[in-house]
Formats: sequence, structure tokens, C-alpha cells
Amino acid sequence: MAIKIDRRGMLLIISGPSGAGKGTFVAKLLEQDPSFVLSCSVTTRAPREKEIDGVHYHFITEERYDQLLAEDAFLEHATVHGNRYGTLRKPVEELLSQGKNVVLEIDPQGAISVMENTDDYVSVFILPPSYQLLRKRLTDRQTDAPDVIERRMRNARNEIALLSRYQYAVVNDQLDVAFEEMMSIVRAEKQRIVRYQPEIPEE
Ligand code: 5GP
Repeated sequence: MAIKIDRRGMLLIISGPSGAGKGTFVAKLLEQDPSFVLSCSVTTRAPREKEIDGVHYHFITEERYDQLLAEDAFLEHATVHGNRYGTLRKPVEELLSQGKNVVLEIDPQGAISVMENTDDYVSVFILPPSYQLLRKRLTDRQTDAPDVIERRMRNARNEIALLSRYQYAVVNDQLDVAFEEMMSIVRAEKQRIVRYQPEIPEE
């Protein structure tokens, strides 16, 4: 007889400053572990080239965002670098109750708000190996003007000051090593009794 397994999904929060590499971690996680689904956030910022509505974000107007706020539709929301972002509560809860693992790639303000308002989550903070390397990564991306990079660097220091609020930290020095560290956290957390309850048959 087969072992019956009752699973509730894991809410995995991946957070950290811009340029620490959280996007790469999340992309690799989704590629390697099909039990994870990425929560598609809403944002009021304009789509970048190659970004698809409904895949990278739901791109919405300021009016629609205000409406969602008034309806209390957000699990968390935050203004990041001057744009507004939010995670919709309903799709996340539906996925978790279906046993799917949901990953949130969100900024530290949003991450802390989820941690304050949710019982069961796994929070991982992705850190750059140095401030110098963080600046280099932001510059090499060639997506931001110098003043934007300076603002992101200032924000990074404030965000890193929130590290102690998280459960786990991973320093992204060598991507493969750091990614394996994150996967070992994910593997262990999948076996927690709160979300994994195998029923052992007699035979
Ligand atoms: P970007 O505009 O570069 O895609 O994202 C900017 C920042 O906003 C990143 O740190 C990203 O993780 C964060 N972010 C994206 N979606 C959300 C969200 O739904 N909530 C919060 N709090 N932050 C988000």
C-alpha cells in the first residue's frame, strides 16, 4: 500500500537588496524544482523591455492599485525605489492549500510584513559578498542610471540592517555554492511536520 502524504505548501520568501542575485536564485529554483510556483506581483511601474504582463508582473495603474489596497487584497505591499508593488493574498493562499510551494521574491519591507502577519513561512535573505561587489553588479547590469545606483546602494545598507529579522542568510559569493546552500534550506524545510505528514500504512 502506498504511503499517504498530506502536504501543505511552503511559503518561501526570498529577499535581499537589489543586485544581491535573488532573481537568479529564484529562476534556478523554479527550473530545478517543479513543486515551486512564483507568485506574480502587481506593480505600478512601467514594463521593461522583454517583460510580459501576467508573467513577470501584473502591470497595473495607480487607480487599480489604490482599489486593491482599499479591498485589503494584499498579503503585503511596499513602495520600492519609488514604485509600488504588492502580493495578492488570494492566489497565494489557494496555491498553498493545494499543496504547492510558493516563492515570493520581494523587498525586505514586504518580507517583514509577511513575517509579522503569517504563521508559517520560510525567509531567506540573500546577501552580496561586499558593498564593492554589489555596486559592480548594479553597474554591470546597465539597467540603471548612476543616481539610481547610488540610491540602491543607500537602500542596500538599510535593508542589510534588517538581516536579524530573517530565519536564514545566504551570501552570494559563488553562485553555485550559494544556490546549494539555499537548496539545503528548502529541502530541510519541506520535511517539517507542519507541512509534511506522511501516514504509514500497516503493510
Ligand atoms: P524590479 O522593479 O527591479 O522588478 O523590483 C524592484 C524590487 O521590488 C525588488 O527588490 C523586488 O524583489 C521587489 N518586489 C517585486 N515584487 C514585489 C512585491 O510584490 N512586494 C514587495 N514588497 N517587493 C516586491
